[in-house]
This record gives sequence, C-alpha cells and structure tokens, in this order.
Amino acid sequence: MSFAHITTEDKQRVLQELSAVKADFASRGFFPGTSGNLSMRVGPYKSDRFYFAITASGKDKTKSTPEDFLFVDQNGQACEATTLKPSAETVIHNEIYRLTGCGAIFHIHSVFNSLVSELFWERRAVPVEGVELIKGLGIWEEEAVIDIPILSNFADVPRIVPEISERIAERIPGILLRKHGIYAWGNNAFEAKRHLEAFEFLFEYVYRWQLLNK
Ligand SMILES: [Zn+2]
Repeated sequence: MSFAHITTEDKQRVLQELSAVKADFASRGFFPGTSGNLSMRVGPYKSDRFYFAITASGKDKTKSTPEDFLFVDQNGQACEATTLKPSAETVIHNEIYRLTGCGAIFHIHSVFNSLVSELFWERRAVPVEGVELIKGLGIWEEEAVIDIPILSNFADVPRIVPEISERIAERIPGILLRKHGIYAWGNNAFEAKRHLEAFEFLFEYVYRWQLLNK
C-alpha cells in the first residue's frame, strides 16, 4: 500500500498521539537542548515497506507547532511535500522498525541513562537483577535477570546502524547508546512509553545501587 492510500484519519490519529507523548515528556524535562526524538508507524507493515511520523530536526520540543512532525518511508524519505527535515537519528528508527515491526519508538537523553551506559560500557550491557520494574518491560518471571544492550555511539549516525542488528536482544524492547541515550519501542505508543519509563527507572536504580555498594 502506498502512503497516499492510508486514510487521513489514521495519519491524524498518529500525529495526535505523538503530540500528546511529546507534551508529556517535555513537561518531565525529557528533551534537554532539543535532544530526543519520537516516532510512530502508520498503515500496514512489511519489513521493506512502511511509513512513520517522526519529530522534525532541531525543534524546541517543549512547544507544539505545525512543524513538529513529518511522515517518512522505510528509507527515511519524506512522504509529502515539506520543508521539514526528519531527525538526524531517523536511520536508527528505520532500522528498529525493519528488525522488530514495532509500532512506536521513543528516544530520550537523560543523565542516568548516560551514566549507566558508561559505567557498564566494558561489558556492553547493563545488568538488572530481580527489580520489580523489569515487569514494565513485559518480562514476568520471578527474580528475572536481564542485560540491556549498550551500543557504540558515533557522531556519524549511520555508523551506529550495523550494530543494532547485531546487538538487539530478543525480549528487551530497547537499546542504549553509549553516553547518549535510550531507544525504547513497543507495539503502540502506550507500550513504548511504558517501556521507556521502566528503563529510566531501572537505570537510576542500578546506578544508585552501584554507588551504595562501592
Ligand atoms: Zn539522541
């Protein structure tokens, strides 16, 4: 199905949901210095053909304007006439959609996600053991032990992409970029948000736990 065949209502629904998440995250200080980006898929999905709305590059995400989002295809190309540029990190969203077929991807930079990514860089994963909020990631077993993958961060964003397919972990709906931030995804915006909040809680917990036990 081409982008033009997706209904206007579906497109508007996606923009509305994204705007609500953006306002919520902005109110919690999740977008320091215009960082972070949000995306949500629209229409049918095939791994080599899909469409999503994503935050435009370099905008103040604490404000709501008609220039907040644009629709792009599986190659990150704009689907409609626009002067907006998609976020510089769109290639990462493309790769995560291609690999997982998920419905929404949220990315934020925080002090705790940056700190743990460096603290555990040598093992390339953040270990979390038996913390209740692991359930927020949809992992329900008793005393679960998980490893959240940490990937290299490069200023040249496309260089990050090959590592995603190598490191993405079956049941962990997120990846952490070293001293950069977390990408969390889910089947829809509600789930992606829940995952992102769970990750942020776990990062702060693990970091503080390390300090206490030094
Ligand atoms: Zn970023």
